[in-house]
Amino acid sequence: MSEQESGSGAASGAAGAAFEYAVIGAGIVGLATARELLAREPEAKIVVIEGEDRVAAHQTGHNSGVIHSGVYYTPGSLKARLCVEGARRMYAFCEEAGVPVERAGKLLVARNSRELPALRELERRGIANGVPGLRWLEGDAIREVEPNAVGVAALHSPNTGIVDYAEVCRALERELRGRGVRFLFGTRVSELARSGSATIVRAGGRELLRAGWVVACAGLWSDRLAAASGADPDPRIVPFRGAYLHLAGDPAPQIVRGMIYPVPDPDLPFLGVHITRHIDGSVSIGPTAFVAGARDAYRISRVRPRDLASLAAWPGLWRVGARYWRNAFTELKLLMSRRAMVRAAAEYAPAIAHLPLAPGSTAGVRAQAVGRDGTLVDDFVISDMPGATHVRNAPSPAATSAFALASELVDRMGR
Ligand SMILES: Cc1cc2nc3c(=O)[nH]c(=O)nc-3n(C[C@H](O)[C@H](O)[C@H](O)COP(=O)(O)OP(=O)(O)OC[C@H]3O[C@@H](n4cnc5c(N)ncnc54)[C@H](O)[C@@H]3O)c2cc1C
Repeated sequence: MSEQESGSGAASGAAGAAFEYAVIGAGIVGLATARELLAREPEAKIVVIEGEDRVAAHQTGHNSGVIHSGVYYTPGSLKARLCVEGARRMYAFCEEAGVPVERAGKLLVARNSRELPALRELERRGIANGVPGLRWLEGDAIREVEPNAVGVAALHSPNTGIVDYAEVCRALERELRGRGVRFLFGTRVSELARSGSATIVRAGGRELLRAGWVVACAGLWSDRLAAASGADPDPRIVPFRGAYLHLAGDPAPQIVRGMIYPVPDPDLPFLGVHITRHIDGSVSIGPTAFVAGARDAYRISRVRPRDLASLAAWPGLWRVGARYWRNAFTELKLLMSRRAMVRAAAEYAPAIAHLPLAPGSTAGVRAQAVGRDGTLVDDFVISDMPGATHVRNAPSPAATSAFALASELVDRMGR
């Protein structure tokens, strides 16, 4: 892919140019970080470097489009703090920038009494995290919120919302360009090296530019960039593919007013197969969660030898497999069968079993950090290096949290 340089005031190529800040990755975390830097230093020269030819090409453009409210996360964790604050700022940004957004509300449903303690724990966490408006519901009260939901109890989060994060990124790109930020698309950074008070950004082994500080928000490739720049190779990114089915029809049958989710397995960082009404009116079932043969496995058949070799050589993945083989087996069934996926959703919304599905499926790939010891790293992880900050684990809800995570990243710089 050829390098394309663009940005207001970009008279010459960026190669060799000096910037106060370089941000690697034009996903939502990178773009929010560029905006935060500009908010604190309006005169700073900032460049955003992206391997693809557009913003939101990977996780940010292939997700559920949910603005999470902060129910799930361990109180005191970065996820808990940054999700609640991030959701507030995401709504504010969308309303200001004219990006369609809606507080559609979400119901977390306990399918049987065995799930009640886990649902109570989520209620406790949500209250501790300051999630607004949470309500415990039973009986008819559940159907008043979501007429098609069936369960023994439910937790309603009215502040959970829907948005198209790729649209948020396009609005951010327009704003940043308008304020002088330069964009280098089609440019894959190979490594960072510190030299005096500058960080050298290299692409294909060649010096591309120098910046006072670099923030790497490289998602699915964050471990490779960090390790190539001298950081610890632990944790490694394991790509977990998430597939979605979609209801047929335009508009799709409105089986949900907002979202219905199951109670998730507390040992896993995934939220389970849920039914979501999207901001464009479509309705999806998913996502699944299964290790992928490539970091960009949007098609299930896509396999990249380098990605496979990296997985096979990582002891952490084998340890995850040994610990969670039962979950892997359940996920494999979902992966193999559309009917199994619909059945999973029908456990808490039986009416969905009678609705026609659109042909095909869509998918995203999660960048999930896995430790050498087999830990599925739950919280956001940020590594500080001389002259650079690396985001090492920013899975869900990092899209929701992006503006708050960006403030956290900038606060930590140079500390
Ligand atoms: C299936 C799925 C469902 C999800 N649902 C939700 C949800 O509903 N709500 C929510 O809040 N979160 C959700 N998430 C998580 C959310 O999408 C991510 O946490 C978020 O998008 C991370 O943003 P990012 O900018 O860190 O990464 P990305 O969006 O992946 O962006 C990273 C960018 O860096 C670029 N890059 C990487 N390496 C280099 C390099 N060396 N040089 C130049 N560029 C590079 C990549 O090309 C990419 O564009 C979901 C994720 C998935 C996969």
